[in-house]
Amino acid sequence: MRLRNSRALPLVDRSLQMKGNPSDDPESSQLVEDIRACTLCRENLPLNPRPILQLDPRAKILVAGQAPGRKTHQSGIPFDDPSGDRLRDWMGIDRSVFYDPVRIAILPMGFCYPGTGKSGDLPPRKECADTWRTRALSSLPNIQLTLVIGKYALDYHLPEAAGTLTHIVQDWERYWPKILPLPHPSPRNNIWIKRNPWFPSEVLPVLRDRVQACL
Ligand code: SF4
Repeated sequence: MRLRNSRALPLVDRSLQMKGNPSDDPESSQLVEDIRACTLCRENLPLNPRPILQLDPRAKILVAGQAPGRKTHQSGIPFDDPSGDRLRDWMGIDRSVFYDPVRIAILPMGFCYPGTGKSGDLPPRKECADTWRTRALSSLPNIQLTLVIGKYALDYHLPEAAGTLTHIVQDWERYWPKILPLPHPSPRNNIWIKRNPWFPSEVLPVLRDRVQACL
């Protein structure tokens, strides 16, 4: 399938190419190419489709997020903001590890910026997960830990989880060690983190140890 627009390739995709994967794996390579070329919900997107993901079959940790915001759409780099800085701190890794697709996969529930509504970014386009997610997850056979961030990722990856986000995160040991539900690392959640001191004191040290073990 022909690439839709090489100018639109995000930096993380360049890193994929620099590290030689997924070009080493024809199926993964084709999948990434197919996703990059996707225009399925173009009519419903405020800007041109620009799928943003990081995928390599050797990845050990999956970051399952929501959807790119406007800034990420422009830069093409997921979590290249204060939320990403905090997430990397939670994981105990730096940017060189986080953006290494051989170690970390990043698959938001919607690969393109969905637009903004009255109360923030719109939900990820449902057709995106319906179309791509099973195939994308199947192409990651080595994932040992999935970090599930945000309501839409929670609904998909932990459909059995019930209650508030606080309740679900507090119940993290139920899903451990394969899955860890997380609050969004956005500075908008500073109050949540202050109100839940058990999260940094109890969960984050365990997360950092597990990330090191997986990598
Ligand atoms: S959001 Fe997903 S389904 Fe829609 S155009 Fe982007 S990649 Fe395709």
